[in-house]
Amino acid sequence: EDGLSMEAQKSEDRLLGGLLAANFDEGTCLSRYQSSSYRKLSPHKPSSYLIGKIRKYEALYKQCGPDTESYNEAITQLKRGQQIRSSSCKYLVWISYSGLGNRIVTLAATFLYALLTDRVLLIDRGTDMGDLFCEPFPEKSWLLPLDFPLNQFDNFHVKSPERYGLMLRDEIINENGTSSGSFPAFVYLHLAHDYDKGDKLFFCDREQLILDGIPWLLLRSDNYFVPSLFLVPKFSEELEKLFPEKVTVFHHLGRYLFHPSNTVWGLITRFYRAYLANAEERVGIQIRTFDTGVGPFQHVLDQILACALNEKLLPAVSRDKPIIPPQQTGKTDRKPKVVLMTSLSGGYYERIRNMYWEYPTVTGEVISIYQPSHEEHQQTEKQFHNMKAWAEMYLLSLSDTLITSPWSTFGYVAQGLGGLRPWIMVKPVNHTTPNPACGRAISMEPCFHAPPFYDCKAKRGIDTGKLVPHVRHCEDMSWGLKLV
Ligand code: GDP
Repeated sequence: EDGLSMEAQKSEDRLLGGLLAANFDEGTCLSRYQSSSYRKLSPHKPSSYLIGKIRKYEALYKQCGPDTESYNEAITQLKRGQQIRSSSCKYLVWISYSGLGNRIVTLAATFLYALLTDRVLLIDRGTDMGDLFCEPFPEKSWLLPLDFPLNQFDNFHVKSPERYGLMLRDEIINENGTSSGSFPAFVYLHLAHDYDKGDKLFFCDREQLILDGIPWLLLRSDNYFVPSLFLVPKFSEELEKLFPEKVTVFHHLGRYLFHPSNTVWGLITRFYRAYLANAEERVGIQIRTFDTGVGPFQHVLDQILACALNEKLLPAVSRDKPIIPPQQTGKTDRKPKVVLMTSLSGGYYERIRNMYWEYPTVTGEVISIYQPSHEEHQQTEKQFHNMKAWAEMYLLSLSDTLITSPWSTFGYVAQGLGGLRPWIMVKPVNHTTPNPACGRAISMEPCFHAPPFYDCKAKRGIDTGKLVPHVRHCEDMSWGLKLV
């Protein structure tokens, strides 16, 4: 390899195979271009079609984003409440909702929908979105301007009259608009776990066509609804072109969108360099229980160990006979195998770390165990709390192998960004350790926890996990859907 092509390769890696635009100011977002020195190069290349689509989207964003003529015109329409003439730019407002992992997977899904429908995605900053992430798009901020006229997002919920599902149910809107023959300036899309039959029509062709006529969409969700977009005929062909490798949707969109802010990048890199850099191998273990109480629970501790040992991710310890470690041949010791644990509880970490201190491993390997925080309770609205949560998801994504907890979007984010197919622990029933303790995920994609089971054409229920080979039920939630 000559020097020139090696340089070209390095710059290509920095830009994640062309996924990232090259013209950003580095200082405002150190993670954007530094991440490639912490991650292994992804074996999954973004398609040139996806790269082209994203570059076009960035151009659209410049043309239609806040502080442009088109934006101001669209805001005027919104204030009048009715669409006067069809506008050149259309918008999609993402409402900040739920835990951070849920927000991240939902935002990736919303961005994909924005790409598919050429809508400018603007995000409600909630309490901390602006502090957690860098700006993903060149030149224009994705944060919804604070003077946005409809900023009382609490007014939009499962019972709001502006809810698209309700307008469909009551036949207030169809292909020709409302009874006045025009389209409303906005509708509210309720795609959260508690959505109803009407809301679920979002995943039908006809109802998507109606949405085309509406300049502003407000969307609230806590779900990764991507798998069901693949089942909408209007989108499926385009999705095939964007993602020839279907299991990489979150992997690519997540790496494109979610760059830790400089503060969070500090948390990540300080921890990495102090505890993870000097490792022969990194094993991530993400523990999230949905039982009442923080734990630690004995059955979960047993389960983590059963999974790690049976799947040979960690060595067993010898409790009765001493193990003489093999003589070191080199002048330096073999590097340790490092385990990064994350949990709201500190108890699992304590117990596992003690086990590897008190007893030798049967292989003679040395195991180091670290856990960045133990916050005890979920505190979605507290700032440093979510910075730590984001840093921990990111650090987990830098693992070589990963064990995750079932039903947890926190784990999905780590596996997707890392391009890892984790071992997912089986959901325990009645506080007992399941056997087997865990199973290998069929893909790195997040699971859509609340998919619709509806055949839009036949207008009846159907198992949407059995329609196409690439959309299947999830390993950790039998009614969920994921891309495989
Ligand atoms: P999910 O509920 O597991 O799907 O994940 P979410 O991220 O949506 O919500 C859980 C929230 O609890 C996180 O956003 C954090 O605020 C907190 N949390 C859960 N597990 C951990 C953890 O291991 N470390 C930290 N720092 N926070 C956690």
